[in-house]
Amino acid sequence: MTKPIPVTSPLLPPLGEFIPYLQEIWDSRTLTNGGSMHQAFEQALCDYLGVEHIALFANGTLALVTALQAQRITGEVITTPYSFVATAHSLLWNGIKPVFVDIDPLTFNLDPEKIEAAITPATTAILPVHCYGNPCDITAITRIADIYNLKVIYDAAHAFAVEDTAGSILRHGDLSVLSFHATKVFNTFEGGAIVCPDEKTRQRINHLKNFGFVNETTVVAPGINGKMSEINAAFGLLQLRYIDQALERRGEIEALYRQLLADVPGIHCVQRTGQVRSNHAYLPILVDSAFTLTRDELYQRFRDQDILVRRYFFPLISDFPMYRGLPSAGSVSLPVARSMAEKVLCLPIFPDLGDSDVERICELIRSVAPR
Ligand SMILES: *Cc1c(COP(=O)(O)O)cnc(C)c1O
Repeated sequence: MTKPIPVTSPLLPPLGEFIPYLQEIWDSRTLTNGGSMHQAFEQALCDYLGVEHIALFANGTLALVTALQAQRITGEVITTPYSFVATAHSLLWNGIKPVFVDIDPLTFNLDPEKIEAAITPATTAILPVHCYGNPCDITAITRIADIYNLKVIYDAAHAFAVEDTAGSILRHGDLSVLSFHATKVFNTFEGGAIVCPDEKTRQRINHLKNFGFVNETTVVAPGINGKMSEINAAFGLLQLRYIDQALERRGEIEALYRQLLADVPGIHCVQRTGQVRSNHAYLPILVDSAFTLTRDELYQRFRDQDILVRRYFFPLISDFPMYRGLPSAGSVSLPVARSMAEKVLCLPIFPDLGDSDVERICELIRSVAPR
């Protein structure tokens, strides 16, 4: 029996290297509430990502919920059905109505040409996702937001370290939200962050993530507890020392997949678009009707071999019970997202994946391909 191959496996530095960080925390007896690890990690992240202001969070979902609070978003928000469910959940937790708009078949991101038709007098913001780390059409989204006076909050959970020609894509919009969940390219076990345009916004977010306290006795908002602990922040500091080599290895794995799958009829590796630096998050392929098996048959073949491929993102968010009654979620709307959700399969990619594993995975596909 060979070992199961998961779709992802976390980046973990040598355990011994984490011990000195733990010793420092034990010595300080500061476990949370913005201690020295938290401060150091915020600064180190700003430097690494090339952004000015970051507020750390306990996870990406709390960061999303708080980002919407910080911008006082209400009413309706335009978002994508093709994402992890937390994107839309963050709207429901704020009492906001999600309005789903279809995606672009090349980037898998919100199709800017379809956004304007979904705007109503109740619309206050756009919540796009940089899906698989592919940057959204930021120019077009910014133009629409300016015309209609909408806020833009990017769910950048997939977009750690991604850069376009002008630098980090996290600088765009009113806020960008990161996740450092164990399954993401960069993890702190659990964790997240909001990238802010200025210090004043960051201060407001810092209050909101700490129950609304601005000092010992003053509470200015019904804030939440969204703070990252010292242990997670310390782990993040250590992870930053290994992230470049992890991204490099991911790049090699992606290149090998693309080479081995290039000429397989009916299998298409999703393109990386609009970025000068990729983080190689996810390895989505599209299985179309020219292939011998349906997507779900191929999925099952992999599962039978203990290769744990995933269908990100199937089902669409708009098909979950708490969303499917919405006017924008009908079974004939969102045709592009629906079609992609039926074809997509995410293959394993993580730094410890060996070339021989990639070859085995591609051989499984090639062995059943039409000839
Ligand atoms: C992972 C993810 C989230 C949620 O982040 P957590 O840190 O797991 O709470 C939100 N949006 C997208 C697109 C994600 O992939």
